[in-house]
Amino acid sequence: MTTKKIFLDENEIPTAWYNIVADMKNKPMPMLHPVTKKELTPEDLYPIFAEKLAQQELNQTDAWIEIPEPVRDLYKIYRPTPLVRAYGLEKALDTPAHIYFKNESVSPAGSHKLNSAIAQAYYCKEQGITNITTETGAGQWGSALSFAAKFFGLELAVYMVKVSYEQKPYRRMMMQTWGAQVVASPSMSTKAGRKIITENPNYSGSLGCAISEAIELATSTPNCKYTLGSVLNHVSLHQTVIGLEAEKQMEKAGEYPDIVIGCFGGGSNFSGISFPFLRHNILEGKKTRLIAAEPASCPKLTRGQFRYDFGDEAGYTPLLPMFTLGHNFAPANIHAGGLRYHGAGTIISQLKKDNLIEAVDINQLDSFKAGVLFARSEGIIPAPESCHAIATAINEANQAKLEGKQKTILFNLSGHGMIDLPSYDKYFSGDLQNYSLSDEEIAQNLNNLD
Ligand SMILES: *Cc1c(COP(=O)(O)O)cnc(C)c1O
Repeated sequence: MTTKKIFLDENEIPTAWYNIVADMKNKPMPMLHPVTKKELTPEDLYPIFAEKLAQQELNQTDAWIEIPEPVRDLYKIYRPTPLVRAYGLEKALDTPAHIYFKNESVSPAGSHKLNSAIAQAYYCKEQGITNITTETGAGQWGSALSFAAKFFGLELAVYMVKVSYEQKPYRRMMMQTWGAQVVASPSMSTKAGRKIITENPNYSGSLGCAISEAIELATSTPNCKYTLGSVLNHVSLHQTVIGLEAEKQMEKAGEYPDIVIGCFGGGSNFSGISFPFLRHNILEGKKTRLIAAEPASCPKLTRGQFRYDFGDEAGYTPLLPMFTLGHNFAPANIHAGGLRYHGAGTIISQLKKDNLIEAVDINQLDSFKAGVLFARSEGIIPAPESCHAIATAINEANQAKLEGKQKTILFNLSGHGMIDLPSYDKYFSGDLQNYSLSDEEIAQNLNNLD
């Protein structure tokens, strides 16, 4: 009998998150205050984020940050997540490679996002905050945060882009089931929303507008903070539970990965699976390849520019040193909604600049093709985002076959696709296409920034 799943006990849930910045020789360049252009301090972030999260965001010295006991307790609902050997996929590919995946789709919200949602809700509660806000596009972050807010007794208002609110109702229903107030954005509840509705009553909403509303509510309501589910350093920090567990599980399997892969939106699940292994590259000279898989229609790491840019469409955030396509970049309407972000977090961007990680881009049809093969060989229907990691794992396994080498490949299954079945439907009916961007389009968008 072969071992299919490698489990850990509940008491093996990590006791600390890993802060890779402490071990980086070249630290990320400083974030800058959007108005004064001075180096950002944690205090600058206190009006928006919980203080502990603001401190974590800028912490460059502590490699390990203790996971509070109530957070570990709540993690027990779905953690440790299984590490799975993809024998079925290996067989379908007839590859000598050993393929493993970390299954984050088993969380109640269906993705890795809960790992940070629980931590963020906890720190808000600990500080005496009663209300939190956020925005959501397709609803993955909003649903994870709804779960976390409920368990820590916080009131949550989620601004959901109006067109998603109307056309993608299932995650809205999840959020409502967990007790969140979901508001279609633009709404009449904020100045920003009222202004847009007055000017254009039929406006179907955008992420930038939803962010404006969520931040406005957080900064104008006593005891209320704003939260974000990707891109920021503290989010990546919380996601390192994924890789830390995987490290122990690979050890139990008697293997060490040659290649670690994660799909890439703003970078949180890729950071989570890869940083604990990158640590051994940095400290012990191990040579594991770490590959971020981004969509070809939103190729910030492979084709973007390293420069200061805003983290959000609206231009409210600090200026971040990062690989970006420009904060005003309008990605094609691809079905991996969670990967449609214009930039990469500051840690990832510095690591990419220093060639410590790699990036590849995957087009939409190849990603769904990989997802379908995975569903038919491993049983789980993956999230459209996760399909990009699967496609990359398949490419590497095929390469190992060509070279006749046994390689050990680990990828993160960031979520399942049970709420994204309409996009599979479109794929099967031939309604999906690849979107390719010309160099001119990318350059033009970046020139618009200056
Ligand atoms: C949000 C999301 C992503 C992309 O976000 P990252 O911060 O890059 O991890 C990927 N997969 C799933 C399932 C998501 O919900």
